[in-house]
Amino acid sequence: MKTTKTYHMVIDVRGVLNWKAKEIARLFTDAETGKRLTAQQAKDYLYDKLKEGYEVIPFGKECEGFDKVKGCPGHPVSKLNKEHTLDQPFITGS
Ligand SMILES: [Zn+2]
Repeated sequence: MKTTKTYHMVIDVRGVLNWKAKEIARLFTDAETGKRLTAQQAKDYLYDKLKEGYEVIPFGKECEGFDKVKGCPGHPVSKLNKEHTLDQPFITGS
């Protein structure tokens, strides 16, 4: 039987830093306050992530085996849960 894998979406940190401020400002929500970050706050967050070695960051929480450079390692479909959904905004913080 063929094993199907699913991959969580990630965003390219350097790529997003090239976006227009208006677009960046819509991307992130502060995990604690629930407020959208300003473009400047979002950029600061992304630069911090680059410093930590992240080339890509996940939607929501990091999944099992997440790689800072390669991203999601892929998961068998049967183990997919509702933890990651594509319609949730990016969450900052740890
Ligand atoms: Zn994953």
